[in-house]
Amino acid sequence: MADQLEVAVLGAGIMGAAMARNLCRTGHAVRIWNRTRAKAEPLAADGARIADSPADAVRGADIVLTMLYDGPAVLEVMTAAAPGLRPGTVWLQSTTVGLEGLAPPAELADTHGLVFFDSPVLGTRGPAEQGELVVMAAGPEDARETVTSVLEAVGDRTLWVGGDGASGAATRLKLVCNSWVLTLTHGAAEALALAKGLGVDPRGFLDAVAGGGLDCGYLRAKSAAILDDDYTPSFALSTAVKDAGLVVSAGEAEGLRLDVAEAGARRFARARAQGHGERDMAATYFASFDT
Ligand code: NAP
Repeated sequence: MADQLEVAVLGAGIMGAAMARNLCRTGHAVRIWNRTRAKAEPLAADGARIADSPADAVRGADIVLTMLYDGPAVLEVMTAAAPGLRPGTVWLQSTTVGLEGLAPPAELADTHGLVFFDSPVLGTRGPAEQGELVVMAAGPEDARETVTSVLEAVGDRTLWVGGDGASGAATRLKLVCNSWVLTLTHGAAEALALAKGLGVDPRGFLDAVAGGGLDCGYLRAKSAAILDDDYTPSFALSTAVKDAGLVVSAGEAEGLRLDVAEAGARRFARARAQGHGERDMAATYFASFDT
C-alpha cells in the first residue's frame, strides 16, 4: 500500500494489542514493545516484530503510538525510548493521561523534536478489536495527513479538535467522555444491586427500559457482565480508578463540584479494595455489598 508506515506501538495491554493488530491488518509494518513481553508475543502471528526495548521499537519508526496505563508510565517508557528517537518522528499519545499528565510528554516531545499528537480514544475492547474507536485528536495541521492511515486503522472516526498536541483540547474532550462512561457504569451496577436488594428480577428492569430513551448499549453490556457473572476486563476496574481520579482532579482544577464523579471514584476504590481491580469495571457492582 502507498502509505505503509513503520509504526512502533508501546504497550500491548487490552487496547494497545488490539490497535497494533489492526495496524498489522491494514498493512503497516508494526514493531511492538510491552513491559511484560509475553503479552506482546502473540502479535508476532499478525506480522508484528516484538521489540526488546522501547528504544529498539522506536528506532527508525515513522510513527510511535503509546497506549500505556497512565502519564507516569508514558514518561518512563518514552524516556527509555529516547536513544532510538530521531527528530521529526510523529508521536501519537493515546494513553489516557489527564490534563496533569499531558505536559511532561509534550515537553519530552519538544526536547527530542518529535511531532506530538494528543490522541486519546473512546471505545473499549470490542471497538478496539474491530478498529472502530473514536479518536479525539489535536496536533499540528501540517502533519495530520501523515497520521491519517494510522488513525483510520484503529478507529472509524477521528474528531479533530483545535490546537496543537500540547493544547490539551483532545484530552479535555476525553475527560468529558469518561465522565459519562464511568457514570453510566455505576448507574447500571447500582440499579442491578438495588434490584437484587429489593428482590426485583433484574431482567424486569431491563425489559422496562428496553428500546426507550433510558436504554443504551452500555447499560446492556455492563448488565450482561453482572448478570452472567463474567467480569473479563474490557476496561479494568483498576484503570477506572485511575480515570475517575483524572476526571475528579480536572473538575477540582476548574473549581467545579462533581459530586457524582467523586462518589464514583470512591466506589471504584472500594471495589478495588475488595479485590476486584483486575476485573471489568462492571465489578463496581460489588461495592454495594459488604463482601
Ligand atoms: P491495560 O490492559 O491495563 O494495559 C496497560 C499497559 O500499560 C500494559 O501494556 C502495561 O504493561 C503497561 N504499563 C503499565 N505501567 C507501566 C510502566 N510503569 N511501564 C511500562 N509499561 C507499563 O490497559 P488498557 O485497557 O489497554 O488501557 C490503556 C490506556 O487506554 C489507559 O490509559 C486507559 O485509561 C485507556 N483506555 C482504555 C480503554 C478500555 O476500555 N480499556 C478505553 C479507552 C482508553 P504490562 O503488560 O507489563 O503490565
